[in-house]
Amino acid sequence: MKAKKYYLPRGMYYSTLQERESFYREEFNLELVEEWLSDRMKNVVFAVVIGRHTGIYPEKYRDESSTTILIDEYRDLEDVRDQILEFLPESVYYDRNLYSEKGEVLGQELAFDLDPENITCPIHGTLEDKMKRHQGLGFCELEFRMVRDETLSLYEELKENFTSVRVVYSGRGFHIHVFDEEAFTMSRKERKELAKELKAKGFPIDEWVTSGDMRLIRLPYSLHGMVSRIVTPLDVKELFRFDPVKDERCLPKFLKGSKLDRDAF
Ligand SMILES: [Zn+2]
Repeated sequence: MKAKKYYLPRGMYYSTLQERESFYREEFNLELVEEWLSDRMKNVVFAVVIGRHTGIYPEKYRDESSTTILIDEYRDLEDVRDQILEFLPESVYYDRNLYSEKGEVLGQELAFDLDPENITCPIHGTLEDKMKRHQGLGFCELEFRMVRDETLSLYEELKENFTSVRVVYSGRGFHIHVFDEEAFTMSRKERKELAKELKAKGFPIDEWVTSGDMRLIRLPYSLHGMVSRIVTPLDVKELFRFDPVKDERCLPKFLKGSKLDRDAF
């Protein structure tokens, strides 16, 4: 079968530097970020990637455009926002490790990353097929709907063992965060085993995130600069009909209005 042309869902495209700036200056909601991190996360380390996937970066950061830059020295969240405004990154993350004042690791937030590219699509094939066509980071609306259904199943599975479980629209797929204290203190080995077990059951998760080898996770309420969508925590009850092409909560202001009709690249 001949490979079909591969797009992002309609209306999803790379944010420009001006759009990133207007989002972080006018819209980025620090109260909601604070609420998300709450007392659970202390001494949080943030991180940004300026232009690794989009190739869009301020000229002065050309040499650092693909590196992960940590924001670990800041006075408060407003200061974090100012540092983000300096870099104008495509992505903002936080470190799931819980640190003591002295920087010792006390635990780690348990998380699951479900991305549409990990779905085997009836039209576009497996991740390997997509990579061969250099479409590893693209996805179609069918893959999105499939990953959404998998997220709901994984949520239900996790609720059998954990009580505080949150689902976040990540910009491309979904993240599931577990806030239970027992989850914070799980060992590396236990995390690896859990990831393996869920992968074996067929969940399209990135084992690297759940095992803790990748500690960074996209910051809720930040802008996903590859798709121009706001990373948005969702109520699991609405997940089955959630549509990021239209949902107002995940549309940045710069996209509202005429630009909504702009074609995906
Ligand atoms: Zn597809």
